Order: sequence, then structure tokens, then C-alpha cells
Amino acid sequence: MRTLKFEELLPHELLEVQRREQPIYLPVGSMEWHGPHMGMGVDACNAYAVALGAAAVTGGAVYPPLYIGTETYRSAQSLARLGLPENARVKGMDFPANSLPSFYWPPELFEQIIAAQLDLLCGVGFLHLAVINGHAAAVQKEILARQCARCETQYGARAAAVTALFEGCGAGLGHAGLAETAIMQYLRPDAVELTRLPAAPQPLFYADWGIADAGGSGSGDFTVRFDPRAATPELGETITRYAAQQCVLALRKAGVAEEFAQNV
Ligand SMILES: [Zn+2]
Repeated sequence: MRTLKFEELLPHELLEVQRREQPIYLPVGSMEWHGPHMGMGVDACNAYAVALGAAAVTGGAVYPPLYIGTETYRSAQSLARLGLPENARVKGMDFPANSLPSFYWPPELFEQIIAAQLDLLCGVGFLHLAVINGHAAAVQKEILARQCARCETQYGARAAAVTALFEGCGAGLGHAGLAETAIMQYLRPDAVELTRLPAAPQPLFYADWGIADAGGSGSGDFTVRFDPRAATPELGETITRYAAQQCVLALRKAGVAEEFAQNV
């Protein structure tokens, strides 16, 4: 196919994607605080790149990314793991010291938008759906999984939601840390300015920067272990390629994508 981008494919090409039962990829992210050193669209940028990488293997078409994400307030335990006061009211990564809040959509509205988008695709017969999710909030993952399951029941579709970051990618996971910073250096170098952070080796406290390791602090000092200041574009390329491969495996397992060679 000339292009994998849904918005650039002609009707007869989209119908060919449908006939071959190749997936439509729907990248979903957030518009969210990712430290003072990155633009807020990290999650959707990453999901889009991973979707394009996976589609290059499976065939299909990649819908433009939805820059919407949802979050809930953190529990006392979750706050404690991040070194934040247990009585603070913190939604997602919106730590009290951040200079700008994230644009989190209410969960019910987020679910309605996702449901409507998937209905539009299923309604015209695109029944292989790969939702690639760049924002790993528990509530967002639940909603996407529920809506994919609904499409399977209601339309007989094959639909799966896959989170676009994978353990084993070559960097510890987290929020706005080593992995995501490297990914953005690779994908959108203009959206990263490491000089917005103090120079290494000064420790970065989660609470000061809205940057965190996955699961919170292992050592209990609440400083960033997977340090964004160690990121390189080469690492970002490795992570993005690995994520695309892992996505393809997950989609094959879920019956959403077949081997590309069988479909051409
Ligand atoms: Zn992110």
C-alpha cells in the first residue's frame, strides 16, 4: 500500500484493507504533563509511531491519533509510593508542583468517545481493530479493554487494546523518565529540552518534577531511577521498534492481525 495512514488512503484502498481483514489501528494517548522538559503529547506520539511500525508488518491502516486520555485520583498508597502527602488530592500525574495541569477527560466521556469511534469503524465493516494505547492509566486500560470486548460481542469483530510500552524494551518504564524521553528524542526532537531539568547528578525527586518510575520508589528515596537525562535518540529508536514488534505479537495472539504475507 502507498501509505498506512487512514486519512490518506482512497476509498478503494480502505475497502481493500477491509477485504483482506487487516487491522485498523486506533492510537490513543493523552495531553498530559510529562515533566518540564517535554511537550504534553508524548503518549499519543508514541502510540502513533508504534501503530505505524506494527502496521508496516501486518498491513492495515492507522487512524490519526486521538490526543485524549483519562485519569482518576490517586489512592493514599499510591501517593505514599511517590513521596506525596497521603492527604493530597492528585489526579494522575498532576502533582501539586507542576506548572500546568494535564487535560484529562472525564472517564465516562472518554468511554463514550472511544465507543462512538469504534462503532463508526465496525458499522462500515472494519472488524479487525487494534487500539494502541500510550497512556497506561488503570482506568484508561479498563475502558479500552471493555470497549474492545463490546465490539467483539456486538459486531463479531476481533478487537484488542495494547499498551504501547513494554518491559524488556531496554529501559526501565515510568512516566516522563528515561524511556519516554528517549522515545520523544527519536520521534519529536523539537519537543524535548533537557536543560529544563537540573544537570545530573543532582537527584530528581518525583514530587518536584512530575516524573516517576513505574510502581513508584523502589529504594524509598522518591528520586527518579530511570533518569530522563540519560536518554538518547538511539535508545528511543530501539524502544519504539521493540514496542512495534511486541504489538504485532500481541495482535496475532488476539486474532486481530495475521501474517501480512497471507493477506497480500
Ligand atoms: Zn506518558
